[in-house]
Amino acid sequence: SYQLSTATVGEKQAFDVDQAASLVKDLRNNFHSGKTKSYEWRVVQLQRIMRMLEENQKKIVEALYKDLAKPEPESFFWEISITNASCKLILEQLKGWMMPEKVQTNSATMSLSSAEIVSEPLGVVLVISPWNFPLLLSLDPVIGAIAAGNTVVVKPSEISSATSSVLSNLLEEYVDNSAIRVVEGSVAETSALLEQKWDKIFFTGGERVGRIVMAAAAKHLTPVVLELGGKCPAIVDSNVDLQVAARRITAGKWACNNGQICIGVDYIITTKEFAPKLIEALRNELEACFGKDPMESKDRSRIVNSSHFKRLANLMDEDKVSDKIVLGGQRDESQLQIAPTILLNVPEDSLIMQEEIFGPLLPILTVENLEDSIEVINRKPKPLAAYLFSDDEQLKTKFVQNVSAGGMTINDTRRHVFVSGLPFGGVGKSGMGSYHGKFSFDIFCHKKAVLYRSFAGDDKMSYPPYHTYKG
Ligand code: NAD
Repeated sequence: SYQLSTATVGEKQAFDVDQAASLVKDLRNNFHSGKTKSYEWRVVQLQRIMRMLEENQKKIVEALYKDLAKPEPESFFWEISITNASCKLILEQLKGWMMPEKVQTNSATMSLSSAEIVSEPLGVVLVISPWNFPLLLSLDPVIGAIAAGNTVVVKPSEISSATSSVLSNLLEEYVDNSAIRVVEGSVAETSALLEQKWDKIFFTGGERVGRIVMAAAAKHLTPVVLELGGKCPAIVDSNVDLQVAARRITAGKWACNNGQICIGVDYIITTKEFAPKLIEALRNELEACFGKDPMESKDRSRIVNSSHFKRLANLMDEDKVSDKIVLGGQRDESQLQIAPTILLNVPEDSLIMQEEIFGPLLPILTVENLEDSIEVINRKPKPLAAYLFSDDEQLKTKFVQNVSAGGMTINDTRRHVFVSGLPFGGVGKSGMGSYHGKFSFDIFCHKKAVLYRSFAGDDKMSYPPYHTYKG
């Protein structure tokens, strides 16, 4: 991997802008050599990534444990297995995706012609990833970039430094480094990279840095994909199968990365009468998953670092919120752990209802009439995901038609992201552009319009002088 500075990850030190420039220059030359465009090159790189994942599971799981105390089954499923499935799908489909797509021509004006859409690689692309799924969210876009025939630099998060380092070493060992590179580092290194001219920047992270990325890209008119976050709501109706709903909410909130997930449930809206029943059901499911003392459970990741711990503690400690805790609330800074915590009826202007929570705190808002919850959601920026638990077909239709979100699952949480035929991405403040499945290939291609004409069938009427024009 390119070492842009001698700094260990996280330390601030001068960075070598020239090296960032020469990295991009090398990759651009290698792109122009044409080798990344061949089907064979793409397939070999993807096969090597699959082999890399298979041969290094233990190393990866250990790094994820070091970074987040991620339980092994979560690491295996959410990081390794999903990444592997992305490669597998692409290997099965790539030949077809790379074929030009025939398009009808207009027979009146374009006789003896044919038209097609050619999916051409963009060139040199930059992927910047976050710490919460540091393997998946680094590799999944890289896999799309390779499938589309690009050269690519990936900059993993310095906060998940163990995984960043393993990823850097492994990619260096397994794939073609003349086209696929890892740059480790934090703000200084990322800023040096962002100064360069890229053909696309694919950023996953928060809104604040998203703005920095977009502003840097604008200088070069570089297109961006921004995979951001937001507050993902879940509406819960009283007609649901309560145990199943509570289990799925528990899974979507706490069983995955301890709430540090962009598509996790951020807050719930239900009716006043139903809230106590829902809280009781969540209490039971939490106990079933994490035992009587969830602080001792080995099945929950920890909070990633002390600054995120303090941020979450601050959300719980705000005056208008601290007396609203109805379940959990325990915390231990030395272990970076916060218990699954439910807060009932926090005011909408509290910090916890203004910011993305990204942790194990779950506010429940109540409304008189469940249909009012759509208005509550629409008062906030558009979320990355939205959920509805209900048996009422009319409410489902109303929810799908009136709630704008990156994606949604009805009667479960998160599962829409596993359907490779569905695009994954945000809308409004939750981002722009989408990937997964064929969308991962398309987002890293230019769809070039190509028209082939024959010399025959030339039509004099379309050239000056326009003698024959009658109006
Ligand atoms: P972040 O925005 O703080 O960091 C993301 C990346 O940007 C990291 O690689 C980091 O090194 C880099 N970075 C940080 N500050 C920078 C700066 N000043 N200039 C240039 N680069 C900088 O995000 P995070 O804390 O790692 O991740 C959490 C956020 O990511 C949440 O908002 C979450 O919702 C979002 N997220 C979104 C998705 C998605 O798929 N849409 C997935 C996971 C996380």
